[in-house]
This record gives sequence, C-alpha cells and structure tokens, in this order.
Amino acid sequence: MTCRDLIDFLDDYVDERLSLIERAKFELHLAACRDCRNYLASYRETVRLARAAGATEETAAEMPADLVRAIMDSRGR
Ligand SMILES: [Zn+2]
Repeated sequence: MTCRDLIDFLDDYVDERLSLIERAKFELHLAACRDCRNYLASYRETVRLARAAGATEETAAEMPADLVRAIMDSRGR
C-alpha cells in the first residue's frame, strides 16, 4: 500500500468499513509511515469537529463563523 492508497481508504477506515485484510494493510502502512499517521490524526480531528457541528444547529451557532466555514469547506460544500 502506498500513501496515496492509504488516503483513498481513509474514509472507509475511519468509518470501519474496511475488510480485515484491507485494514491489516492499512495499519501496516500506518505503522511504517509517520506522514500518514499525522494525516490520519488531523483527518480524525476534522471528522470529529464536522460531526459535532452537524449534531445540532445550536452547537453550530455557538461556534466561531470561521471555524464553521472551515468545517463546511472540508466537507466539500
Ligand atoms: Zn504513508
């Protein structure tokens, strides 16, 4: 697995939709590749924030506008 493959699988990995074999390959690459570990960590944080923002409208209203916009952009809107 290359770094590019890993990024393609990232969504499925975070949502736990990978097969056991894909997951093993993914984790093998992660263990060997610091860049991808960093990338995964920031990706997870973004997903967490986006989900928190999507949880309720009120939560989003309390967040700084710049942050909300950044999260919306990261979701591809
Ligand atoms: Zn990598």
